[in-house]
Amino acid sequence: MNATDTEEMRADDDAPIERVEVTPVMRKVDRPNYQKRIKIHPKRARGSFRRLKWAIMAITLAIYYGTPWIRWDRGANMPDQAVLIDFPARRFYFFFIEIWPQEVYYLTGLLILASLGLFLLTALAGRVWCGYSCPQTVWTDLFLVVERAIEGDRAARIRLDKAPLSASKIGKRTAKHLLWIVIGLTTGGAWVFYFADAPTLAVGLLTGDAAPIAYITIAVLTASTYLFGGHAREQVCIYMCPWPRIQGALFDEHSLLVAYKADRGEPRGRYRKGEDWAGRGDCVDCQQCVVVCPMGIDIRDGSQLECITCALCIDACDDVMGKIGRPKGLIGYDTAVNETRRAENLPPRTRLIRPRTIAYTALMVVVSLVMLATLVSRPVLEVNIQHKRNPLFVKLSNGDVRNGYTIKILNKLHEDRRFTLSLDGLAGATLSVTGQEQGANGLLVKSDNLRAFRVFIAIPAKFAPKGGRDITLIVTDEISGESAQNDTIFRGPET
Ligand code: SF4
Ligand code: SF4
Repeated sequence: MNATDTEEMRADDDAPIERVEVTPVMRKVDRPNYQKRIKIHPKRARGSFRRLKWAIMAITLAIYYGTPWIRWDRGANMPDQAVLIDFPARRFYFFFIEIWPQEVYYLTGLLILASLGLFLLTALAGRVWCGYSCPQTVWTDLFLVVERAIEGDRAARIRLDKAPLSASKIGKRTAKHLLWIVIGLTTGGAWVFYFADAPTLAVGLLTGDAAPIAYITIAVLTASTYLFGGHAREQVCIYMCPWPRIQGALFDEHSLLVAYKADRGEPRGRYRKGEDWAGRGDCVDCQQCVVVCPMGIDIRDGSQLECITCALCIDACDDVMGKIGRPKGLIGYDTAVNETRRAENLPPRTRLIRPRTIAYTALMVVVSLVMLATLVSRPVLEVNIQHKRNPLFVKLSNGDVRNGYTIKILNKLHEDRRFTLSLDGLAGATLSVTGQEQGANGLLVKSDNLRAFRVFIAIPAKFAPKGGRDITLIVTDEISGESAQNDTIFRGPET
């Protein structure tokens, strides 16, 4: 009887414990450098970790699909989408926060925070990100839900793979792939809603009026979601993602990792009801932990690069332990320190607070505080001044010396503003703005806009500084009094 024959004899769900002859797809020992892919048919697991994963999957998918539809009132003529990356206006909106292109350092701060958060999580509990909330894991789970609903659980899927082509097989495969494409479509569809007003774009997509880039993006994301979630699955985690290679440097002996307690499980072996447990381990070698593993590995081989810490093997083994009347936790979250302590008959000790977790947390707090401080204190008025260099100065017919400048005023408020321009550091000079009288009318800058003004400073020859002098130009809001200033130079003749 070969491995699969044995599996086919067992019922998928709620079966009494029966040993499954199965070879893990990824063996830790004797693994060749190149191995042709062996398809994995993960069995459905039941238990507290599986329920936790369902909950996280529901929450993350709801956030992804639902966020573009949340509205946020920003006033007239402003987008009312809570989260929007507005490329034409070069703006990123996140609820009450509005990020301008020159504030892209916030994005850097967010990426640093995300990295530190990932480092902290990994130091505490291994690849929990991978096992619970990585998009690859979440979408693969979603694709597996569809696969199981149509083709059945592990044994039925293996049977179907081996079965000759028939109307039933074609029907099931067609339905599965169609549903996978629908998931891919909705995934790509939801993504483009982050870049335009979602209700408007939805109508545009349906009527064929949306921009070509929207259709291209949806097509690319549909294809990649279908490929990664439906076909590549564990191959993405094992071969494409760099994270498994990096994470090794982030663990230490106190990190909680999914582990098989060999000291309790070995020597493993088949178990018949009523047998004495003396002189043997608790592992009944039923392979349930292997058949539920989405990565196709045997956790009993020890800690492995392929393990995404999804904890489904914990659920599977706990279920088995319950049925044979042994304590749960033969597979569980464990640390290297506790493994040693158990060998020395010492009670387990979990240390969440240690130098590296303190360092990651402290860095996260510092980065968060810096970002918060810059966010609340950032100006809503920015001024940039450029001195005209060709020529550096001109002599007017009345003998005055004149310099030219370009002043750019950025009004970040959602209302029109008028500004007055003043000068400091050059007594006797006069200011003029091309095409605009200074004074009652001020310098008008429309809401949420940048405007450039051509400015001249002239001074009688007798007051003109030799060579040049540092001066300050001050832009002041006529109503609020808010001001911004910029240093520049006034050039004069050397003699
Ligand atoms: S060994 Fe266990 S925790 Fe690791 S990937 Fe497989 S089922 Fe998940
Ligand atoms: S570790 Fe648990 S689930 Fe895995 S083979 Fe042993 S008894 Fe079965």
